Amino acid sequence: MKYYSTNQTAPQAGLRQAVTEGLAPDKGLYMPERIRRLPDEFFERIDRLGFHEIAKTVASAFFGDDIPQAELDRIVDATLCFDTPVVHVGGEIWSLELFHGPTAAFKDVGARFMARMLGHFTHGEAGRITVLVATSGDTGSAVANGFLGVEGIDVVVLYPKGKVSDLQEKQFTTLGQNITAIEIDGTFDDCQRLVKHAFMDSDLKTRLTLTSANSINVARFLPQSFYYFHAYAQMKRAGKGDGLVFAVPSGNFGNLTAGLFAMRMGLPVRRFIAANNRNDVFLEYLRTGVYTPRPSVETVANAMDVGDPSNFARILDLYANDVEAIRRDISAFRYDDGQITQCIGRVHSSTGYTLDPHGACGYLALEEGLHDGEHGVLLETAHPAKFGHTVEAAIGGEVPLPRSLEGFVGKQKQSVPLGPDYDGFRKWLTGRG
Ligand SMILES: *Cc1c(COP(=O)(O)O)cnc(C)c1O
Repeated sequence: MKYYSTNQTAPQAGLRQAVTEGLAPDKGLYMPERIRRLPDEFFERIDRLGFHEIAKTVASAFFGDDIPQAELDRIVDATLCFDTPVVHVGGEIWSLELFHGPTAAFKDVGARFMARMLGHFTHGEAGRITVLVATSGDTGSAVANGFLGVEGIDVVVLYPKGKVSDLQEKQFTTLGQNITAIEIDGTFDDCQRLVKHAFMDSDLKTRLTLTSANSINVARFLPQSFYYFHAYAQMKRAGKGDGLVFAVPSGNFGNLTAGLFAMRMGLPVRRFIAANNRNDVFLEYLRTGVYTPRPSVETVANAMDVGDPSNFARILDLYANDVEAIRRDISAFRYDDGQITQCIGRVHSSTGYTLDPHGACGYLALEEGLHDGEHGVLLETAHPAKFGHTVEAAIGGEVPLPRSLEGFVGKQKQSVPLGPDYDGFRKWLTGRG
């Protein structure tokens, strides 16, 4: 399979190049040249298949030309070390729980898959690959845990000192093995600048093979389609497979775009709803037909505080810039912090289900946007305990940590303190082992 750039000016790339580069040389996002429709027979028996079997079929449609099936199966098995169950919340609303992985958020799926695919492509090569990632909290933990113990790859996580929560910090500073955390005496923007500088340092690149684990990477983004199929299978088994609507709490729109890919592959989903906080540039685009990015604003659903969603380019490409066609498949709603916290409290007291602030946007969007005869599934993108402060205030009670996160609490932090200047970072990078 070839991958083209959404900017159309870079040459097409093979899978290996697309995965190791992340972004195309013309700064566009890679798209697979074809999206294969899965056979009717697959959808007829999908409710009798397990998650791994479903994911292997989907993975094969994307990556089967480039990776032997047995190897691909191994990658899928290792990626999906946890389930993504669909749980009934109330009325016609269900929750697709994507938080049962090592860092209790959906990014575990893409990060684990990408790590193993990169490991496959670099296996047997003499040199090691260094993955650089700047984080304001959650991306670093998903990437670090996703790559933990993968042969031939070192991960360096840069994070701003004192600006991530204690628990977030523990999730990437206590792992050891091939993961190193660097605590930068500066801001998140400093961390990002250092990483960008390293990628542009041609002398450094003759000494080290650097790559990013950015969320726009095809190997992080495409596997997110697996759980849409698995969700459909579970809904079909429950006799609720018709008129399916997914509400997707969206920031960079990678998760929602993976759902659109699933739809193109034949998944019988009626439509999608983009659920947003006050960062609503996509909603404005649907309303006006004009895309106007703007600086993000802070909200309680902070993983969606994005003012210029990176995967917007993929959605435009998928629909050939036809806003009417996009409106047929996707609608959007937005909610402010007051509505989000009120919803968490209300749903908890009426159903007993605890939503996180992102999932709450999905719940509100289904409440507002679901039509008669439709079944709504919200993507619960993180465990509510990850946003304990907000959620506990909203429900007036405690939210216990899931076991995966509890394991980090007592561990000893280990990090390398560095200043925000590039020279110090470069010296450290070249002076290691
Ligand atoms: C990253 C993230 C999102 C946003 O996902 P996108 O694919 O960027 O739209 C939503 N919720 C949580 C908890 C996240 O970590």
